[in-house]
Amino acid sequence: MNNRLYGQLIFELSKPGRKGYSLPANTFEHHELSPEMQRATDAALPECDELTVVRHYTNHSANNFGVNNGFYPLGSCTMKYNPVIDEETAALPAFTNLHPQQPESTCQGALEVYYRLQQSLAAIAGMEAFTLNPFAGAHGELTGLMVIRDYHLERGDQKRVKVIVPDSAHGTNPASAAVCGLEVVEVKSRADGCVDVDDLRALLDDSVAAMMMTNPNTLGLFERDIPEIAKLVHKCGGLMYYDGANLNPLLGVCRPGDMGFDVMHINLHKTFATPHGGGGPGSGPVGVRKGLEHLLPSPRVTFDGEHYHLVRDKEAISVGAFLGNFGVIVRAYTYILSLGRENLRMVGPLATLNANYIKESLKDLYELPIDGLCKHEFVFDGLKDKSTGVTTMDVAKRLLDYGYHAPTIYFPLLFHESLMIEPTESENLDTIDGFIDVMRRIAEEAATQPDLVKNAPHNTPIGRVDDVKAARQPILTYKKMKG
Ligand SMILES: *Cc1c(COP(=O)(O)O)cnc(C)c1O
Repeated sequence: MNNRLYGQLIFELSKPGRKGYSLPANTFEHHELSPEMQRATDAALPECDELTVVRHYTNHSANNFGVNNGFYPLGSCTMKYNPVIDEETAALPAFTNLHPQQPESTCQGALEVYYRLQQSLAAIAGMEAFTLNPFAGAHGELTGLMVIRDYHLERGDQKRVKVIVPDSAHGTNPASAAVCGLEVVEVKSRADGCVDVDDLRALLDDSVAAMMMTNPNTLGLFERDIPEIAKLVHKCGGLMYYDGANLNPLLGVCRPGDMGFDVMHINLHKTFATPHGGGGPGSGPVGVRKGLEHLLPSPRVTFDGEHYHLVRDKEAISVGAFLGNFGVIVRAYTYILSLGRENLRMVGPLATLNANYIKESLKDLYELPIDGLCKHEFVFDGLKDKSTGVTTMDVAKRLLDYGYHAPTIYFPLLFHESLMIEPTESENLDTIDGFIDVMRRIAEEAATQPDLVKNAPHNTPIGRVDDVKAARQPILTYKKMKG
């Protein structure tokens, strides 16, 4: 931002009497950078006129695919409809003009939203307290594991270094444990897709800090043995961590806190509707059971019955400078309020119904390695007829030709040709039937004209991309993009 605009903004925000978000006059004092910090020559930034820039980005946006364009059955990602009312509240100037440094007396409304969402999530998840500071699910996992680590250290229990993670887990689980300085130990799944309790028993000892579980797991299966698993883990002194990325099908049906989990995160951008993809924006609130609240990160928002306070605690961990991704927080709170208690209860059962309907309608043509009722999502192991040589990758690319976003592919790693479908609760029967028809047609094409599927997509602005080359030799500069 240039100096003139910057000055104008400060002036606007600091006008006396500006309700709700006026700033003290000295909030932003302009400091000159010292000469040795300043660059000697101008940066080689692209120079072009505004109209060209507008066209460039408008044309790019027309190539985007989102939930607003069509069906987006990306498993594990809960690409549900993001209601417009969420965007409207998040765009209110009283929220968008907030400055993180403004005094708490001038942002009581924002702090109230933050506080109320903390309380709502605690009620929904059956936890004692929540922090909304983490910026993503993975960031929530790291925060939660830091809480667990500190719980053990606080009790003088230094030997707890192991985190047990199922082999079906999302890659962020072992990654978060490693980033937290803990050791990852994998527990196997049984043939029915759930955690192998016998295998787990053999891994438990007094070096276990925590067991991480996703429920329903990444195969969309409800982990039936959680009470037993929680008992075993607690008995050896470890804590239970719940990866709440798959909370959607449980909404209104059951609560992780009642299952024996001690620490958890929720992906607000998934379960509570914020447009996401391509890396953001996200929010990964972390909840803890009673007795662990004091280990949550600073700053925290408290309420004394009259005013809301932003409390900073120098002793506490910190996972971000301020209060997290506030726009996502506003959207999630709007989503919860606009559905209300009764409709929120419908989310899980509807998401589950949609997933089972698709699974049952396709399992004669696609390999279903674990049959039976699923929750919000399920995994095929490619086409049933393997003789055509048509892979999961080919099916995913062919779906683009028909105007659908591809499902999640090659995850979870339990099968060679994983194709993971999550329709969410927001799609109507016509859309779902349309998708089933196209999936059946692709199976038919694979049998009769396999090359058509193997060379897809044919109708997109860019054809089949060489993924390996793109990963090994990425072109990241604007200059090369021209050519
Ligand atoms: C999405 C997801 C995560 C990670 O969440 P991000 O917000 O993408 O960091 C973790 N676990 C599971 C099961 C997920 O689906």
